[in-house]
Amino acid sequence: MKISEILKHKKPTISFEFFPPKKIENEGILFKTVEILKDYNPDFVSITYGAGGSTREKTVEWTLKLKRNYNLNVMMHLTCISSTKDEIDKIIETLQNANIDNILALRGDIPENGKLNGEFKYAYQLVKYLKSKGDFSIGVAGYPEGHPEAESLKKDTEYLKSKIEAGGEFIITQLFFENRYFFDFVDRIRKAGITVPVIAGIMPILNLSQVERFTKMCAAGVPEGLIESMQNKSKEGMFKIGVEYATKQCEELLQNGVDGLHFYTLNKYNATKEILNNLKSKGLL
Ligand code: FAD
Repeated sequence: MKISEILKHKKPTISFEFFPPKKIENEGILFKTVEILKDYNPDFVSITYGAGGSTREKTVEWTLKLKRNYNLNVMMHLTCISSTKDEIDKIIETLQNANIDNILALRGDIPENGKLNGEFKYAYQLVKYLKSKGDFSIGVAGYPEGHPEAESLKKDTEYLKSKIEAGGEFIITQLFFENRYFFDFVDRIRKAGITVPVIAGIMPILNLSQVERFTKMCAAGVPEGLIESMQNKSKEGMFKIGVEYATKQCEELLQNGVDGLHFYTLNKYNATKEILNNLKSKGLL
């Protein structure tokens, strides 16, 4: 079912993001996570698209598998920066044959070797192309703290608008750890005339080693207080703090009428399950 249709009738939506495991021995972990999280009746689940090589085929494979084996509403991520039109066309055909309605249209990160095969330089071009090829519901990425390469927040907003004008029907945000960035982002884009639903990307920090990785990967600021509270704590202690923090974050987002919560699960179920249980017990879901 089209995510854009669901968003017309339901608020908040709940969704889970997975990545295709590289190694066969890790597939069991994802199967188990899906088995457990599907009981929370997600409105959709999504599968990320690898920067290159074999994981791309696995993205398509897992998209089909999650629909076929679990009857889940699946959204496939698709990046264009290093994919040729032929490759994209083949994927479109496969998705159409499998009745997959939803695509998250992305540019992708510039590869470290700088080599670009893609005919599309930006995500808005991919959105336009996908719209011309089929009746997909297209989501796009938004960055509450600005995309790391953006010249300015103003320009970033203009470019986000170009993705919506090209046919993007909803936005899923990059992870963030302070809600004020999300609220400011929504204000900013509404003022710029972007009216589509905005789904918040949620990733709990569960240990200190993740802090540096996330900050580097997506330029999301991690509050000092959260880092300090995790110092000298056991693995279990850090997990508990991270889950509590993310629960509070979701609580505030829900109280402020967020359109949806999209959990970056990293193929694990524990934290997402606990956060959802906490929100349910507070009567927020
Ligand atoms: P764009 O919207 O094209 O923007 C890229 C940069 O170019 C921005 O700085 C923007 O301001 C600028 N820009 C846009 N249009 C123009 C223009 N016309 N002229 C000049 N500058 C312009 N990556 C993966 O590889 N696989 C995934 O599965 C994946 N999933 C993601 C899911 C979510 C929810 C999010 C938020 C990100 C995901 N990413 C994924 C990361 C994403 O691919 C990177 O952040 C990438 O660097 C930007 O992609 P984009 O679609 O936002 O690009």
